Amino acid sequence: MMSPVAVYVHTPFCPSKCGYCDFNSYAMQGQIVERTVSAICAEIERSPWRGRPAKTIFFGGGTPTFLSEDQLLRIFDAVIRAHPPVEGCEITSEANPGTVDAAKFSAMREAGFNRISLGAQSFLDSDLIALDRIHKAGDIERAVDAARQAGFDNVNIDLMFALPHQSLVAWRKNLDRAFSLETDHLSLYCLTIEPNTSFYKKHLKGQLDLPDDEAQVAMYDECCERALSKGFSQYEISNFAKPGRECRHNLCYWYGEEYAGYGPGAVGSMTDPIGGRYRYTNLKHPERFSDAVEAGDRLDFERESLDGDVLRTERVMLGLRLNEGVSSELLNPGPVKRLIERGWLTERDGRAALTAEGRHFCSEVALELI
Ligand code: SF4
Repeated sequence: MMSPVAVYVHTPFCPSKCGYCDFNSYAMQGQIVERTVSAICAEIERSPWRGRPAKTIFFGGGTPTFLSEDQLLRIFDAVIRAHPPVEGCEITSEANPGTVDAAKFSAMREAGFNRISLGAQSFLDSDLIALDRIHKAGDIERAVDAARQAGFDNVNIDLMFALPHQSLVAWRKNLDRAFSLETDHLSLYCLTIEPNTSFYKKHLKGQLDLPDDEAQVAMYDECCERALSKGFSQYEISNFAKPGRECRHNLCYWYGEEYAGYGPGAVGSMTDPIGGRYRYTNLKHPERFSDAVEAGDRLDFERESLDGDVLRTERVMLGLRLNEGVSSELLNPGPVKRLIERGWLTERDGRAALTAEGRHFCSEVALELI
């Protein structure tokens, strides 16, 4: 039997573009959406990895739930025909609380999705307006309820901190509402200002009043403490799960395993039987992507060989983010000793892991170790 693989599908459309977003997403509607859905299905049908079972499936974006039920499920059918899910396969879709309802969730659950990841971001309408999100705080609670009623017993919410004008008091209120929903997983994101976003232009003009470093550390620490007290474990630097609810798809990335990516701008990392491990990125724009699929042209516009050194570096950088840390065999003892003395690293049972203090300096630790 062929070995199972993680499968990612990128749906690049959103109702509108959020001010901070530098993901490969487009506020497009109409014919291009339908054309891109057909192109994604065709890409999957022609996949060189067809027949390898799926160990996890993840629909991300963009906003997968911006697609109609029919469009979303057509892609889903193409995926499971090409990659029959293994027993117990985790099958996730990201969802925007403003683009879902009970009927869509029920259809998704019935088709085979078993995990929902909701882009909540904040429970304050003023934050959501500032972020250009299309949903309101009340939509998040309604979406979690609808997901539960549809039979989803594995629900994540994404929450953002370090937002413009955000105070520690406002953050605490956010955490109160987030934890009151009793979801199974929480992913935490610190707002970063990326070039080519409208937030970047505002930032250059001094129009974004962002919390300073000290406030950001306090917000992060508060979330970690509250999550632990609510029965979550912090299995990754920004991810918290109830027992057994760790995101298995993301763990494949953090463990440096293979993953097949489909759709505009999707990234994959696969093993070529002759050339070794490589990473590819698909054409990003939906029209360029669809043109290439329809013409039978190559879809990857970037392809990078991952030699032993690159793989080791990535394993260290990604593994460090995990609570269980990284195998000491991948590390030089000198820097490990120095970082342990500084209080940023611990070593146990042949693995080195960040301490609570070290989590604030993950990039610095990684740089020293590689
Ligand atoms: S919903 Fe997500 S992907 Fe879409 S524009 Fe907003 S941040 Fe970007």
